[in-house]
Amino acid sequence: MDNTQEIAAGAAIRLGGIAKRYGDVRAVSHVDLTIAPGEVVALLGPNGAGKSTTVDMILGLTTPDEGTVSVFGQAPADAVRAGMIGAMLQGGTLLDDLTVRETVGLVAKLHRRPMPVRDALRAAGVEDIADRRANKLSGGQKQRVRFAVALVSDPDLLVLDEPTAAMDVGSRREFWKSMYSFTDTGRTVLFATHYLEEAEEFADRVVLMRAGEVVADGSVAQVRALAGGRTIRAVLPAGVSDQLVSTLPAVTSFELRGERVALSSSDSDTTLRALLAAVPAVRDIEIGAVGLEGAFLSLTSDETEEAVR
Ligand code: ADP
Ligand code: MG
Repeated sequence: MDNTQEIAAGAAIRLGGIAKRYGDVRAVSHVDLTIAPGEVVALLGPNGAGKSTTVDMILGLTTPDEGTVSVFGQAPADAVRAGMIGAMLQGGTLLDDLTVRETVGLVAKLHRRPMPVRDALRAAGVEDIADRRANKLSGGQKQRVRFAVALVSDPDLLVLDEPTAAMDVGSRREFWKSMYSFTDTGRTVLFATHYLEEAEEFADRVVLMRAGEVVADGSVAQVRALAGGRTIRAVLPAGVSDQLVSTLPAVTSFELRGERVALSSSDSDTTLRALLAAVPAVRDIEIGAVGLEGAFLSLTSDETEEAVR
């Protein structure tokens, strides 16, 4: 076994340079990622970033054009067949005529070592609606039933694509509470989300995607720091050029409208000192922290696609 194979064998998920195109769209470009057993990882990014495509490749629902995918050292299809992976997909549908209990029961029968259906229903918080048919459920309830379906094979890895999309704040909290009882047992979770707060609150590690690439990977604190920085707003005397503003140190982006400038800086002290030296007449200076939302946007700002899916 060479080194790469050893790592692949020990990892829960290993993606080696995976890429996927749809016509002219590069949905995923050369993503390398290793997730260790027991990690709870958020795949964070705006719509169209390539999260679902990545998830689909991990589950063997889509084949990468390039690169390799292994789950617990196996090909995705084998890992799924062995009941190692439980999945909750973004567009997953339920059979309208089946009750919740029947739905989960049906999936349990497909697996060799399922957990008792009752336990999956309880863990997903759908015991009280177990006899209701799928077509009588709210969006949030359907999501929780999908969660029960994902759990019933008693998997080592859960892969969830935007699991709380249709949930209100209350059900969201309930959902993550049931998730904790799963991760407490040392199992691995990868969830895709475009909610920054959700990644921050529930993940040990955040993998930030933009336009098919991983643009940041680390603990929540690390990713925040990376995206951190401040905004500086000020009024400049007439005649200060874009050129001058753009050459100030540590400026990551700026906008100059008439005399007003707004810029983002990764080191506001340095930027401000240089600004004061270059333009002594600068006035009305305001410095603000980039909020979490701003941090996320600054790392994902080249996003042009607004895929609604
Ligand atoms: P995310 O889940 O982060 O919103 P996706 O992986 O769904 O992103 O999509 C990434 C890009 O690939 C988008 O530009 C999307 O429009 C495109 N895409 C995804 N699936 C398909 C498909 N089946 N056919 C064509 N384009 C697709
Ligand atoms: Mg998606």
